[in-house]
Amino acid sequence: MATTIYAIGLGSNRRGRHGDPATEVRAALAAIGGVVAASPVIATPPLGPSIRRFANAAALIASAETPPQLLARLKRIEAAFGRRRGRRWGARVIDLDILLWSGGRWHARDLTVPHAAMRERAFVLRPLLHIAPSWRDPVSGRTLRQLAARIDRRRPRA
Ligand code: ATP
Ligand code: MG
Ligand code: MG
Repeated sequence: MATTIYAIGLGSNRRGRHGDPATEVRAALAAIGGVVAASPVIATPPLGPSIRRFANAAALIASAETPPQLLARLKRIEAAFGRRRGRRWGARVIDLDILLWSGGRWHARDLTVPHAAMRERAFVLRPLLHIAPSWRDPVSGRTLRQLAARIDRRRPRA
């Protein structure tokens, strides 16, 4: 396939062999490779039943992989970083999600692009805003700048 651009969301709320969550996020970026742009690593307060702070970031990567191929590789990196599958909201060394794809949408049983929860999550939109403010979400028709502004209006300090 021709080279396309993916926006990837990275999150960690648990130390791993590289170090603290922010260090795990930076190490994952290096492992993914093909990085065209990377946001700062942002500290996010805990969400849901989890009590740990998250480190979150977003990156644009250039890749010739199809979305399922990339997802399979991201899952291998998660496993290599020591992520145990199971509890969705529990502690994890690294979470690597496909947020957006320059090819548009992809929908399969185990993969939805754009990421289904992306529009409601400040911890996803904030870092993404640093690197791709004008990218237009093909589902809502809104740019990331617009999506982030909507969230800020709803939850000023979230
Ligand atoms: P959330 O999806 O709400 O952010 P999570 O990232 O913690 O939760 P995971 O345990 O990492 O959830 O992934 C659960 C499943 O979600 C994966 O096995 C994967 O098949 C599926 N999935 C669907 N769409 C995507 C996507 N865009 N990026 C990554 N995984 C996805
Ligand atoms: Mg996730
Ligand atoms: Mg995930």
